[in-house]
Amino acid sequence: MRNVALYIHVPFCRHKCTYCDFYSITDTSMLPHYMAALLKEIEGYQQKPPFDGFSSSSLPEIRQQQQVFNDGETAASPFLAAFQTMLPDDGFSLSSIYFGGGTPSLLSHEQIFTILRFIRQGFYAPQDIEITLEANPGTLSEPSAALLLNAGINRLSLGVQSFDNRDLSMLSRIHDARQAAESIHYLQRANIPNISIDLIYAVPCQTLDSWQQTVTQTLQFKPQHISMYGLTYEPGTALARAVELKQIKKCDEELEREMYLCGSEMLTAAGYEHYEISNFALPGYRSRHNQKYWDGTAYLGLGPSAHSHFNHFRWRNIDDVHAYHQRLNKDEWPVAETEKLTTTQMKAEAILLGLRRKEGLDLQMWRQIFTKDFYELTGSALESLGGIDLDTSPFQPSQNGKLLTGINHHLALTRQGLLLYDYICRELYAAVA
Ligand code: SF4
Repeated sequence: MRNVALYIHVPFCRHKCTYCDFYSITDTSMLPHYMAALLKEIEGYQQKPPFDGFSSSSLPEIRQQQQVFNDGETAASPFLAAFQTMLPDDGFSLSSIYFGGGTPSLLSHEQIFTILRFIRQGFYAPQDIEITLEANPGTLSEPSAALLLNAGINRLSLGVQSFDNRDLSMLSRIHDARQAAESIHYLQRANIPNISIDLIYAVPCQTLDSWQQTVTQTLQFKPQHISMYGLTYEPGTALARAVELKQIKKCDEELEREMYLCGSEMLTAAGYEHYEISNFALPGYRSRHNQKYWDGTAYLGLGPSAHSHFNHFRWRNIDDVHAYHQRLNKDEWPVAETEKLTTTQMKAEAILLGLRRKEGLDLQMWRQIFTKDFYELTGSALESLGGIDLDTSPFQPSQNGKLLTGINHHLALTRQGLLLYDYICRELYAAVA
């Protein structure tokens, strides 16, 4: 049975945050149409072979897109062929289910329950499967939190972002610090067994002190998992425009590095395992779903703008809830583009994903897949990066200031390397491309 992680994109938000470039709309009147289309998409993937479940009229478009993306491959319809071979007779076995967005906590518990029922009808999902729902403080109440467990959710990822109201207002979040704390209490009282809290650092005007206070307050709740991301300025967002117009100033880079190091030290000192650049977990609580992305294994994304990755193919749904609904209503697949990964892209992904993880890049696996020794390919790049420390554990400080550590056929970042992740990936990628 083919094992996949399932992602459901819920494209609705109460309000658009200033830094966000995820696809979402604030018009929730489309929610019933979205639900009908999503259930149809789920059913479509449950039929065999998958694309035969719908009208073939959407297939020429998919084939045409392949010619653009396929890197010279001429096999007839490799996308469909890949689908047919990757769908075993006994179907998909799900390794995790993740409702992301958007703001999935805008769905009612009945809607969540219905989606999960449809999923379980056609996909094999083990009883103890991790089912995560992203939620925003400001959309939860005590009764709604209590119903989530009944609907089937066993992991909650809460977008707290900060416990400082100045940061929350800069990010134009719909909640304040008090509501964030209340939401965590609701979830804990509802006995949600696994709660993850998202934080953002390097917000303009944030100080090292205020960031430390946010981390301290987060730790007081003892969540099972914490993610912390540096604020990014995505093109087209209100925050990026404000920087261009010099209305706000980005956080100083040195301060941003200090915030990252200080945050990670506080979390590891409190017993959290730093297992991915931005993610920390109490023992046994790593995100099973996100680990699938970082492992480069298969995932299926449903809903507008959702991405999928299977057998070296990637495809993406259209990022328009109206068009998504119309396509499925006409029995057509809502796929916007497909891409067969080239060897060069696969190498780049292996480096980018491998170095994010504490386990690092598996060099034996690299040799098996790409039939070349990684160190032979990257010798001079590794030298210019300062060489490899063979005595330091991943993500730990290197006594001789090295950026990379090589232990048991794995290449990983040292603490110093964590701060230069982008640069290191670029150098290694240039050497293997
Ligand atoms: S709630 Fe999340 S998805 Fe929605 S606009 Fe804000 S950051 Fe984006």
